[in-house]
Amino acid sequence: MANKEKAKKKSLLKNFYPEFTFEKVENIPYELLHKEGIRLILMDMDNTLIDSKGQYSKELKKWIQNVKSKDIKLYIVSNSISERMVKKISKELGVRYFYKASKPSTKGFKTVSEQFPEISKKEILMIGDQLFTDIWGANRFNIRTLLVKRINKKEIIVSRIKRPIERIILNHYYKKEENAEKCRV
Ligand SMILES: [Mg+2]
Repeated sequence: MANKEKAKKKSLLKNFYPEFTFEKVENIPYELLHKEGIRLILMDMDNTLIDSKGQYSKELKKWIQNVKSKDIKLYIVSNSISERMVKKISKELGVRYFYKASKPSTKGFKTVSEQFPEISKKEILMIGDQLFTDIWGANRFNIRTLLVKRINKKEIIVSRIKRPIERIILNHYYKKEENAEKCRV
């Protein structure tokens, strides 16, 4: 492959690279958020916060309370079309929500971030489990990104098809030393 083509391929892949990766949300240390100057966290819901039965862990709830107490704002940005579920989780976790976000569309990120004009894009972190919706969308909007492992193995068919392709991109990502350093999975 010509060098030019190689470079193009590399820069294409970069659109899908997260800045950080963690096993799960509750493993993200507050110290990292503080060090990186994060003031607003946008979170995907399905498979990031809750499993397919709508359950979340006690540790997650504690993590959210802790982060909120440190004056970091939290917001759910979900592609879910069921407002009932998003509303329920939002109420239980004490986090506001934006649903039908159609990520990788940037409309959810834009709408939510406009509510916090004092917070700049480099102070906003998107946490999600999917490269093609959460990470790509956030990268397109130029905010920070953190990938977690999906909670459930069972997924809807569309997500299942995308997973092997995600794996290929992630393998490229992990091969790079500068990324490996930031991965805590
Ligand atoms: Mg998800």
